Amino acid sequence: MGSHTLDLLKNELPVEEETILLSDNVNTGLVLVDIVNGFCTVGAGNLAPPVPNKQISGMVDEAVKLAREFCSKKWPVYALLDCHNPDIPEPPYPPHCIAGTDESKLVPALQWLEDEPNVTLRCKDCIDGFLGSIEKDGSNVFVEWVKTHEIKVLLVVGICTDICVLDFVCSALSARNRRMLTPLEDVVVYSRGCSTFDLPLSVAQNIKGALAHPQDLMHHVGLYMAKGRGAKIVSKVSFNLPTED
Ligand SMILES: [Zn+2]
Repeated sequence: MGSHTLDLLKNELPVEEETILLSDNVNTGLVLVDIVNGFCTVGAGNLAPPVPNKQISGMVDEAVKLAREFCSKKWPVYALLDCHNPDIPEPPYPPHCIAGTDESKLVPALQWLEDEPNVTLRCKDCIDGFLGSIEKDGSNVFVEWVKTHEIKVLLVVGICTDICVLDFVCSALSARNRRMLTPLEDVVVYSRGCSTFDLPLSVAQNIKGALAHPQDLMHHVGLYMAKGRGAKIVSKVSFNLPTED
């Protein structure tokens, strides 16, 4: 899609972005959505980027920086991993992130998280990580995580801005409003820490049943929808310096 068209759409659907300063005084949890090979590593599968993609690799870089910072501070991290039983398809998507394959594993730059004590890994077999956190007995691992760590601010990054990130954010906001996530106050989406896939109209037209999905536009729409539901969108995340004592 032309950049002129994108600018016109952004003018009609503006997303004002804030900045956020995180500190020890406010319990903050980092949620990583689906930063797995099957969505992020070139050539890794049906839903992986076929060629290097700047928006996706930039998202991974930002997620790694945040994860390092959170782990150095021992702040809680919740990593959702898309992960499917090979016998249960997930329409409308082709097979992807089958359990036990590399596709459903964290990207190489984040694999160290598997050994970090402050990190909770959660496999999910649906788009919405909130639903995907429900156990057979009806309990919800994500809800428990928020309550255990008394999280007031959720910082969300990952892929796809307009799909798994958006659905998770919307569910978290609804759950917060129903007082299911007390003491959670804010759900914050870091724009440069999110990305989506690219399927331009010119390509989609030649694939039967495919929906066009221009990357920059759909990333923007995802942020816009999240903001409309009550998320804060930030373009910058910083950490206060530890106070000397
Ligand atoms: Zn999936």
